[in-house]
Amino acid sequence: MFNTPHLLDQLVSLTGIRDLELLEASLLKTLNGFIHPTGLSLYKVSSRGEVRSEVIFGSEKCQVLREGFDVSPELLQAFQQHHAADSSTLQLALADGFLNVMTVMDTRSATTYLVIRSKVALLDSDSRVIDGMLQIYRNFCQLLQESQTDSLTGLANRKTFDECFSRVYELQPMENDHPVAVDLRKSQSPTSYWIAMIDIDHFKSVNDRFGHLYGDEVLILLAHLLKNALRNDDLVFRFGGEEFVLMIRCHDREEAAGLLERLRKSVETQNIPQVGQVTISIGATEMIRNTFAGTLLDYADKALYFSKQNGRNRLTFFEDMERDGLATREMPPSENLDFF
Ligand code: GH3
Ligand code: MG
Ligand code: MG
Repeated sequence: MFNTPHLLDQLVSLTGIRDLELLEASLLKTLNGFIHPTGLSLYKVSSRGEVRSEVIFGSEKCQVLREGFDVSPELLQAFQQHHAADSSTLQLALADGFLNVMTVMDTRSATTYLVIRSKVALLDSDSRVIDGMLQIYRNFCQLLQESQTDSLTGLANRKTFDECFSRVYELQPMENDHPVAVDLRKSQSPTSYWIAMIDIDHFKSVNDRFGHLYGDEVLILLAHLLKNALRNDDLVFRFGGEEFVLMIRCHDREEAAGLLERLRKSVETQNIPQVGQVTISIGATEMIRNTFAGTLLDYADKALYFSKQNGRNRLTFFEDMERDGLATREMPPSENLDFF
């Protein structure tokens, strides 16, 4: 039986969230408060049927697993059955209770399923309230996604950059520590993130010669090139105007340089209809944890400025400028800073 004022309270807190992962956790918490299931989880299943992640709700907390989890054959079968069926809820009677599978989100690349295990069968009225909650969740997710996306290029926007930066930043090794793999289960060799700032060369003249609409086309094409050149763990943002920022995960500086050089060349060799050739300048630096986020961006920006001042259509690492005495690193913040 649903408690309406409590349900409204939960929905108010759900729609107050601005983070998509927290939103999933909040959805499970809200549902748990109403149906008191024996098990509650979310599964993301790719269009090829691979289960990509599992979010399990238990003891008021959510556990997110992206690797190393087992999905029972009965559940895999239930996903297939649900996919083939036309109804929004699939309910199966098992030896120890009921298994309910519902679609939370369905995109071209993946489907997110809600799995509710319960001792007794869900009533039709329960299913209708859950359906309503899922619809609110979907609408809100869409709003959040739109607010995080640049409308011209479809890339993540500057606002999202700040949030992602602090997340990735938390994973980075402290300076002087031996670098550690961000995800040890994935790779035994150490990796770190690199920031690259990209700016289109003489873009104003593209607008001046061909008009703003052609300029916009160049931005869309570049965004497409960047997305295609990057791997799963890499992130790309439209930072504003004709500037883009990448966060790329590499084993070492050579790998980062190789990827960025390939990118620079692929833009240089692209023949854009009407506009012809466009080039980009890049400034890059390694993300190191005990450096402020703003300072790292400043380093990448200094390296980009150097590329601009030295012929454009080139890549510069802040670390090289530092080595050549062209730039200095700020002192890391002391543990015992006295502000007053
Ligand atoms: P540089 O090589 O030094 O970067 O020269 P630039 O001309 O690219 O640099 P500048 O900063 O002088 O000009 C950037 C231009 O980018 C100015 C602005 O009109 C254009 N721009 C910014 N945002 C957009 C956009 O969304 N669409 C289009 N078409 N142009 C944009
Ligand atoms: Mg610019
Ligand atoms: Mg420019």
